[in-house]
Amino acid sequence: MPELPEVEALAGYLRERAVGRRVERFEVAAISALKTYDPPPSAVAGRAVTGAGRHGKFLDVRFGEGLHLVVHLARAGWLHYREAFPSAAPLRPGKGPIAVRVRLDDGSGFNLTEAGTQKKLAAYLVTDPALVPGVGKLGPDALEADLATFGAQLRSRRGQVKGVLTDQSVLAGIGNAYSDEILHAAKLSPFAITDRLTDDQLATLHAATRAVLGDAVRRSMGQRAAELKGEKRSGLKVHARKGLPCPVCGDLVREVSFADSSLQYCPTCQTGGKPLADRRLSRLVR
Ligand SMILES: [Zn+2]
Repeated sequence: MPELPEVEALAGYLRERAVGRRVERFEVAAISALKTYDPPPSAVAGRAVTGAGRHGKFLDVRFGEGLHLVVHLARAGWLHYREAFPSAAPLRPGKGPIAVRVRLDDGSGFNLTEAGTQKKLAAYLVTDPALVPGVGKLGPDALEADLATFGAQLRSRRGQVKGVLTDQSVLAGIGNAYSDEILHAAKLSPFAITDRLTDDQLATLHAATRAVLGDAVRRSMGQRAAELKGEKRSGLKVHARKGLPCPVCGDLVREVSFADSSLQYCPTCQTGGKPLADRRLSRLVR
């Protein structure tokens, strides 16, 4: 699932490649992916791409004054930039992975795609990004929050730190993968309770958040969209590395499974060597 660093890199790629180009066609193949009907998709044609940015994990493509395409890529969504499309024929609504296609005036453009049968990708054409329900409720940006803001946000929500870190209304941009990495870097148990964290632990967690996300952004920027997933995987120390040695201490990375997700951690680095119990029947508290 793309998180803050990948979405930042996708926005960076669009700023470099697409800004200044005029939209020839805005095609919607997966009707259910477009969550808005006003302004209509036809409003985008003829406009120029004037910018690209991000709100938490939401990508924001701007088409001049008062027109934004805001996208939440969800678990299996992605943006594929194409220097050329194989055919000029319009997309046919149907079952394929392409949800939306934006064709630009130099023949290039991008597809928003989603793999698998669970369709969660959400695209919104809006006059103001704040009109997107998820964007309006976002907390401060995880990469930009200073220590005071970060600490106040985390302490405002009592719960397991793993769940609180990934709550987009507390901090925007962190998902399942980078929360595992941040907690590992901070040497904190995923089940530590937020309002019991000491000032020192909060400062360490804040520094780890900046370091992990900042590093991932630096590694991701300038990468073509197609290479981002590999880049993300290569930088991970514990996430999705169950059974492999922790690169810091050599202990084996363990996993806690929930009904709908899982987390990975290093016992030696994070829980005083004690393995955490499996919670297969419960949900990760958010
Ligand atoms: Zn370790």
